[in-house]
Amino acid sequence: MSNNDPFVIIGGGLAAGRAAEALREHGHRGPVTIVTDEPERPYTRPPLSKEYLLGKKSRESIYVHPEAWYADQDVDLMLSRRVTALDPLAKRVALDDGQQIPYAKLLLATGASPRRLTAHGAECDNVLYLRRVTDSERLKEAFVPEARIVVIGGGWIGLETAAAARMAGADVTVLERSDMPLQKVLGREAAEVFVSLHSDQGVRVQTRAEVDHLTGGDGRADGVRLTDGSHLPADTVVVGVGVTPNDRLAREAGLEVDNGVVTDQALRTSAADIYAAGDVANAYHPRLERRLRVEHWANALHQPRTAAANMLGRNEAYERLPYFYTDQYDLGMEYIGYVPPGGADRVVFRGSADERKFIAFYLSGNRILAGMSVNVWDVIEPIRTLIESESLIDDTRLANPDVPLEALFG
Ligand code: NAP
Repeated sequence: MSNNDPFVIIGGGLAAGRAAEALREHGHRGPVTIVTDEPERPYTRPPLSKEYLLGKKSRESIYVHPEAWYADQDVDLMLSRRVTALDPLAKRVALDDGQQIPYAKLLLATGASPRRLTAHGAECDNVLYLRRVTDSERLKEAFVPEARIVVIGGGWIGLETAAAARMAGADVTVLERSDMPLQKVLGREAAEVFVSLHSDQGVRVQTRAEVDHLTGGDGRADGVRLTDGSHLPADTVVVGVGVTPNDRLAREAGLEVDNGVVTDQALRTSAADIYAAGDVANAYHPRLERRLRVEHWANALHQPRTAAANMLGRNEAYERLPYFYTDQYDLGMEYIGYVPPGGADRVVFRGSADERKFIAFYLSGNRILAGMSVNVWDVIEPIRTLIESESLIDDTRLANPDVPLEALFG
């Protein structure tokens, strides 16, 4: 491979921007092209459901790089363009206008798309999703005092948008079909902290709520009818019912796809010279000894560096622990680690869940799998060390805030 080979990145999110940056930092001098159907240069998504939605951050602040960076770094940014086909044998991609771009190495950073609500009425104009910056701007316009906002889905999008709507003075209901929002992810006791937070702020959190259809006419929904027959009037309906990986190109090109594009620990796909990173990559994680597709910001931030290094001939494994955070009202939370479904046998709390100031540790046997800090700061690095060092844990000491986390290393 020569240093002048053309590298192509498909996708225009954080992972794409970071990959281009890492390729240049690692010394690649050949053409780097980003092809994205977004009309915008790469930006980060966390502010779209947090500070940007709340009007606390400017539009300029969300971008991964300043506009001039792409010209300065000689990165060709092809906006509002769609890759329609990928030919791994001829090593080229086809664009929507018929243009063909050859590559020596290709990165799939195509991300994920919101799962659509299929209920009758879901195509109405005021049924909104959140993925792109324009989605966030539409939500911001809809979140006004007294507006009736019904949020379908009590996941991270659902709860963060509910908080933003409530902080704008709207009347907010969250519909969750399970027993409790976030219970599957955080366990019951920690999930209750988020439910009580929203209830205290005046949000109605309705559980075991199954949507039957949306009511209204002329392209506008005026409410949500549940399967139990009840009706919730709505000026705007927000849908946050998960995402699906954008893996169609890879599948059609014959790459191995299984809940996203399958990669090894070096983020190499099943096709020669094609890599994947970010939400779309279902990558083997050597530390966790399983494949994992992570839909959080930190993954899109860090994976591209490893992918870029390997595109340039190195052989690095991506083995960072998953990390994510949320901000809702005055609550700040950070989470590190991974708990497989049913994988934790207990949760140990250090601090007070009632006061919403604590760390929750998820354990299996005497090892920590993951830790979540709520309104407790600067503890993620020691928690990371506790997990990575596989320290043997004594629950009593772990629960005692007077014992420094560092004293538990071992
Ligand atoms: P999510 O976190 O996976 O939550 C989806 C929620 O919708 C789940 O509670 C799910 O319940 C529920 N649901 C699914 N189908 C439903 C239906 N038909 N009716 C009612 N509820 C339904 O997904 P998300 O909130 O849409 O967020 C999208 C992605 O962005 C996720 O990967 C998320 O982690 C990420 N994100 C992360 C952050 C953060 O890290 N702070 C913020 C925003 C978004 P079941 O579990 O019962 O299916």
